[in-house]
Amino acid sequence: MQTPDWQQALSRAFTDLSSLLEYLQLDSCESLDTLQASQDFSLRVPRAFAALMQPGDVHDPLLRQVLPLAEEMSLAPGFTGNPVGDKESEACPGLLHKYQGRALIVATGACAVHCRYCFRRHYAYSNGSASPRQWMRILDYLRKHNEIEEVILSGGDPLMVNDERLADWLEQLESLPQIKRLRLHTRLPVVLPQRIGPQLIGLLTRGRFETVIVIHANHPNELSPQVAEAMGQLKAAGITLLNQSVLLKGVNDKAETLVKLSERLFSIGVLPYYLHLLDRVAGAAHFEVEETRALEIQQALRARLPGYLVPRMVREIAGELSKIPV
Ligand SMILES: *Cc1c(COP(=O)(O)O)cnc(C)c1O
Ligand code: SF4
Repeated sequence: MQTPDWQQALSRAFTDLSSLLEYLQLDSCESLDTLQASQDFSLRVPRAFAALMQPGDVHDPLLRQVLPLAEEMSLAPGFTGNPVGDKESEACPGLLHKYQGRALIVATGACAVHCRYCFRRHYAYSNGSASPRQWMRILDYLRKHNEIEEVILSGGDPLMVNDERLADWLEQLESLPQIKRLRLHTRLPVVLPQRIGPQLIGLLTRGRFETVIVIHANHPNELSPQVAEAMGQLKAAGITLLNQSVLLKGVNDKAETLVKLSERLFSIGVLPYYLHLLDRVAGAAHFEVEETRALEIQQALRARLPGYLVPRMVREIAGELSKIPV
């Protein structure tokens, strides 16, 4: 069988810092610490995403999201390996059941891009997708908890799973009558828009589920014409499109940037959903925006945007019954 285009594109992603820096015409700023940071959590950047970065600008907001920095190696108080209590809410391997009515499947540990701020960067999952045995247990759990009406495919990135397997999973989920909604949290439509096409859309829409896709974009520069095109296809297929971002110092911690992000999202058919305060994961302290500053930004967004374009600013607190509004 022929390798799908998106998998070919993925195999051409940057995985070493010096090639990425060379591509961006930046002098190598590699120090030993930088090397250590990328050994701890490897670099991975699809070419479509790198192409949206400004050559020669080491402060480019897209580059900052993926650039391993020496700062990651310094310990910061309060920043841990398991910041949001994922381990505690594991109902069975690969299934997180934290909130009423919805459960989250860690479909795979793999991602197309490695975001340095990722709260799951230390989460101990294997790189492959859930095994058939794991999947059986997940289905068993869902069957026994018929108050769960929404299944969230997350990861990692659920769209890293190939179409055959996704189709098989959806079919099995559909056999559970209480499940009404299917939600995918994915960064692929943004960093690898080639992933979206008729085949994927066909398998997502041929069943009975109401389908929601939550994309993850943090900066308006991420939303290229190719991304817009992908969103157009999903929207035309009747899929509800939302976006979630993380508030990140040096990336999107200005009201102006977030105003542009919301406006651009809307123009491509996506509504802003959440703006997360950073989860305090070890290695990401340099991205943290102080709460007072976050509140100022929120106020400015409310003043400048219609209510439906203001993302809900939230934080995740381990053990709480939902994400907590700031
Ligand atoms: C964030 C999250 C959800 C979804 O929460 P919503 O507020 O519905 O978006 C569900 N399960 C887990 C484990 C989560 O972390
Ligand atoms: S795509 Fe999502 S899960 Fe993957 S590294 Fe980025 S933030 Fe983490």
